[in-house]
Amino acid sequence: MPFFTSNQYTTVSYEYYGARDALGRCTIAVACVGRDIMPTSDRGSISVVRPTGWHDSAIYERAHLIAHCLTGEDANWENLISGTYDLNGEMVRYENMVADYIKETGNHVLYRVTPIFEGNNLLASGVLMEAYSVEDSGAGICFCIFIHNVEGDYDIDYATGDYELSDDSALKDATYVVNKNKYKIHKSDCSSVTDMSDANKIYYYGTYDEVVADLIGKGKNYSNCGSCHPENG
Ligand SMILES: [Zn+2]
Repeated sequence: MPFFTSNQYTTVSYEYYGARDALGRCTIAVACVGRDIMPTSDRGSISVVRPTGWHDSAIYERAHLIAHCLTGEDANWENLISGTYDLNGEMVRYENMVADYIKETGNHVLYRVTPIFEGNNLLASGVLMEAYSVEDSGAGICFCIFIHNVEGDYDIDYATGDYELSDDSALKDATYVVNKNKYKIHKSDCSSVTDMSDANKIYYYGTYDEVVADLIGKGKNYSNCGSCHPENG
């Protein structure tokens, strides 16, 4: 059950983004989402925003507190945190559920996302997502969940956002990683690997020729990543 109080229930759409704190961290985003404030145009660029704990070309994405699909926010510094691919992927499931419900019913959903920072950490430990459909008293949408800001294979220092491969990670000594959806071969340090769901990863610890021989032996049509060029060794 979300922690909303009954005096917060309204059928008038609004959105609110709390001011960042003294360390520059996002604090809260609240909205009563109705069709009238949902976006009518495509998402704009958000790359100008550098949330606290941000590292370029890393395991992070700029994660909206309130998704673009709900309130149409783009480069809003009060609404973007450094979030792992795992966190963002998990949030999207709930965001799409809410967006679909509103589009189908025309009802309003009271919606609040609160990033949780321990102490002076610059990286959030996770986000609390709360949602409640107003007109039907929560019959359509009612959830309160905490999503952890973690990424498989990596240990994260939440004070700074620095990260490193876990000692027990299968990726630690891997030379190549193959995506078993597309049988595309990547070098283990390719940025696409962090974006890949763990269930789709096949780890290899030998040479490129050994990877290819294994895939051919399995009768798979493989391809090489056009970004990391594993065929170049
Ligand atoms: Zn690659």
